[in-house]
Amino acid sequence: MSFTIQNVLIPVDQAYETVDVQINAGQIAAVGSQLEVVGTAVDGQNKLLLPGFFNAHTHSSEMWQRGIIPPVPLELWIAELYEFSPLNPEQIYLSALGTAVETLLSGGTSVVDHLVLIPGQELETVAAAVRAYQEIGIRAFVAPLIQDEALSAGVPSGGAAIDHDPYLRSTTATLNLVEEMVQQFHRPAEGINILVAPTGIQLCSDALFKGCIDLSDRYNLCRHAHLLETKAQKLLAQEKYGCSAVEHLQQIGYLSDRTSLAHCVWLDDADIEILAETRSTVVHNPLSNLRLGSGIAPLLKYRQAGVNVTFGCDGAASNDSQDLLEAIKIGSLLHNVTDLDYQHWTTPRQAVEMASLGGAKGLNVSEELGSLTVGKQADLVMYDLTSLSLLPRTDPIGLLILGRPTNAVDSVWVRGDRIVAAGQVNTIDVNNLRQQLFQHSEWVTQRRSQELRQVEARYRSVMGLPESSSGYS
Ligand SMILES: [Zn+2]
Repeated sequence: MSFTIQNVLIPVDQAYETVDVQINAGQIAAVGSQLEVVGTAVDGQNKLLLPGFFNAHTHSSEMWQRGIIPPVPLELWIAELYEFSPLNPEQIYLSALGTAVETLLSGGTSVVDHLVLIPGQELETVAAAVRAYQEIGIRAFVAPLIQDEALSAGVPSGGAAIDHDPYLRSTTATLNLVEEMVQQFHRPAEGINILVAPTGIQLCSDALFKGCIDLSDRYNLCRHAHLLETKAQKLLAQEKYGCSAVEHLQQIGYLSDRTSLAHCVWLDDADIEILAETRSTVVHNPLSNLRLGSGIAPLLKYRQAGVNVTFGCDGAASNDSQDLLEAIKIGSLLHNVTDLDYQHWTTPRQAVEMASLGGAKGLNVSEELGSLTVGKQADLVMYDLTSLSLLPRTDPIGLLILGRPTNAVDSVWVRGDRIVAAGQVNTIDVNNLRQQLFQHSEWVTQRRSQELRQVEARYRSVMGLPESSSGYS
């Protein structure tokens, strides 16, 4: 299918140009002024065309718990999250659709779903998410979230000898499952990719990491993980390895130019050097880091060290939204308070590049995605510059990144297929999705997490907090 976007604004160097963009067979065929119309003509007047952004770290099924988990740190938050996550594949399907809709309508064309697997229905979980992403048409990087240690092992022991329950599935069985997922679902040419994705050093053995490296090498898969999201994880790494988590991951060979690492809040200068050397990618999730009190990632240091950085929303239970433009805005502004030298601060144009090309680099697809370049895939977003939130007219990218764009996305194409037109997703029935999400849920006025209470005392003691009799609530 061919089409030509006419008279659309695109950024060039430090200015803008009005051009025509020809798309043929899912690829950008030409960019220039007064081009011949090939295929359908699309009106780009008063619109801004950008490469699609990457929602480079999320957990779609957390959508079922957005807005409810109290303000507690990750180690307590996750205990509650897991206690109330008895999902079924139908819910997985619906929350994947919901995540995709919110991502598309906030500038994203790709999503990295670090997908929580339903125990005993792991393949069905991935199948449900893949079905959703194929139906809606977003480009998906499904990263089945795996671990091989019990949740309680993720909190530092503080020197105490603690016996943790074995994890419900063996390391070998988990790796076999991931291999099965790769064989069944990994179809890059169709826009569905599987990643190896141990949750992080806090809950994974070296054997699991090494098994993932092996799968990654054999099937040419990208690698994903959480990394040093919290101070507790930094302590845990010292207890577990006697060195930093980054040094350890480098030693076992997990870091590479196709490895993306979510959060990266608690890294020191030596760790940052290692990320730069190994050309690993940092996925910055500023809202989640604020919500869970994890800290402020040293984003400006990453950029100065030459580390590739991109943005993610993180799951909707720690954000509690999937608005990518919001994450990009906060992720750009937050760091101005960390460095007096304003010349280091992130500009709106740099933020756009991080969200697009930065995401593509982290997923080893920068040859095909991430910029408006002839020969690249047509994963494009066109913004309506007459939207009230983008008026009056000043700098379009400044308005988009620093402002609060609402209803600004006019059209989205993935692989040249138009999946949003006139601000509406046209591949699925969004009204029906709303009804389904409503019907599969209920207002929750009060709930108490037993898991959270069990972990709370140890967490408070290890983190040097006073004993509390009242509990989190
Ligand atoms: Zn996460």
